[in-house]
Amino acid sequence: PTHRDQDRTAEARAGLPELGSRVLPAKPGRFANTPDSDLSTRANQEWAAAITRRIPSSTAGIAEADAARISSVDEVDAAIERALRGQSAWSARPVAERAGVLREAARLFSVRRAELLEVAASETGKMLEQGDPEVSEAIDFLLYYADRMEALAADADLRIAPRRLTLVTPPWNFPLAIPTGGMAAALVTGSSVIVKPAPQARRCGAVLVALLHDAGVPEDALILLDAPENEVGRALVSDPRIDQLILTGAYDTATLFAQWRPQLRIKAETSGKNAIIVTPQADLDLAAKDVALSAFGHAGQKCSAASLVITVGSVTRSRRFRSQLADAVLSLRVGYPTDPTAQVGPVIEKAEGKLASGLTTLGPGEEWLARPEQLDETGRLWSSGVRDGVAEGSEYHRTEYFGPILGLMHADTLEDAIRMQNGTDYGLTAGLHSLDPAEISLWTSRVEAGNLYINRGITGAIVERQAFGGWKRSAIGQTAKAGGPNYLVHLVDVADARETD
Ligand code: GLU
Repeated sequence: PTHRDQDRTAEARAGLPELGSRVLPAKPGRFANTPDSDLSTRANQEWAAAITRRIPSSTAGIAEADAARISSVDEVDAAIERALRGQSAWSARPVAERAGVLREAARLFSVRRAELLEVAASETGKMLEQGDPEVSEAIDFLLYYADRMEALAADADLRIAPRRLTLVTPPWNFPLAIPTGGMAAALVTGSSVIVKPAPQARRCGAVLVALLHDAGVPEDALILLDAPENEVGRALVSDPRIDQLILTGAYDTATLFAQWRPQLRIKAETSGKNAIIVTPQADLDLAAKDVALSAFGHAGQKCSAASLVITVGSVTRSRRFRSQLADAVLSLRVGYPTDPTAQVGPVIEKAEGKLASGLTTLGPGEEWLARPEQLDETGRLWSSGVRDGVAEGSEYHRTEYFGPILGLMHADTLEDAIRMQNGTDYGLTAGLHSLDPAEISLWTSRVEAGNLYINRGITGAIVERQAFGGWKRSAIGQTAKAGGPNYLVHLVDVADARETD
């Protein structure tokens, strides 16, 4: 067993994981989206079971989240004033000190991994298997941006100045990693941060901010502000004292914010409508598995999720791939995070509107390969759905549903398939399953998406290895990808040092 397995066994034996008392695993984070986070080993299963038992009665973050609730524009003003006052002292600290605070936060995240998993599961329904690599990703962001900032500051050719105040508005679907990435990036540059959590993930936001404060970020350099999404939220986003906004969310939200304040610098990662192409040159067994996991991991609630698969030529004409895919999808067990045997979790709230129609209504010429069924009265638990025969240009082809639905499209040639894959307004992730080098190079030269994946799933980008960000309507003002080498440069003002010598 690994070092971490042993830690987990000890905790599980003691009954419940005592939050904060864990011995550090050997590898706290970096690249830990790999087998180190594997919950299938026996020791890790015991550890996970101990967390699972805590989920129903979890109170993590409730008090802090309640304290962050505001209801008036005056409170927005006070928080901005406070953050600006805090920024001077924070940015005056040497870069190595700010980077050290992030590294200390990474250590705390690792020690408090159980609490982070518990709050994400209890508040947003995130399954432990999805939450565990997400904690690792959060840790990776902390460590990576600490390193990148030190590298940037050491570059004698550059003179850099932080921006004073950054607003971070994260989504609920990655309630740990994405807020951490945004806060860490801005903070390490010397900016103050106001973070407005997603309403569905307020407690996650509160726990993260508390951990960053514990690690040494001053309380007036990082402020959790739970502003309602009405004129109070609008006052926050529109305030001219906010220098920049790091947003992950819907394309429409980002464009609305840009209308409210056209001068605001926005770094937004937005929606996706992502497809995987499967050609006759593919390993079809692998393709079926990768498609199913990319489509239904976290119940499809990832910007990166596959919501289309496009089969080419003989894959289209034979029934083999379709039945393999149907088998893979029907075997996925759906349940809540409190059910240790479940693989696919609930959707964030009762399926209504667009999502409900996507789960229940077919477009012209479509038929169910796997028909989604509502599994309980909450409206949150759905079996995974696959619709066959999605037509090019149809509603399903172009719309993001953000839930457990996958559509099959069929193409005669790889060129046709690439046209269909590119035929949406978005361009976040894209996949190709083919073992033919000529097909791979044709595809790579034509596909319009930020993150390309060949012969693997299309979710789960890893900090530093696979920076994450989109093209077209999948990004606004996003000049560099998150978790990549240039992300911080675009959050600061940069001058050429030699010009000023
Ligand atoms: N970075 C995540 C991934 O690669 C997706 C983030 C999102 O859904 O916004 O799967």
